[in-house]
Amino acid sequence: MPDALHQRYLRALDVHRDHRAACTACTSTSRCREGERLWTVFTRSQDAYLERQRNRRNTP
Ligand SMILES: [Zn+2]
Repeated sequence: MPDALHQRYLRALDVHRDHRAACTACTSTSRCREGERLWTVFTRSQDAYLERQRNRRNTP
């Protein structure tokens, strides 16, 4: 069964990585406006995924 939350998290990481590879404004120390937006999407997806993992562990 596909894990939607995990899929979204991996997808957001891919999207950000693709942008990072193609964008000349993004560096290892700073991000352009779009890069920042994509990074935020990724961290939120990651947080949601990890939060659920933690909740699952606490409630067998
Ligand atoms: Zn960028």
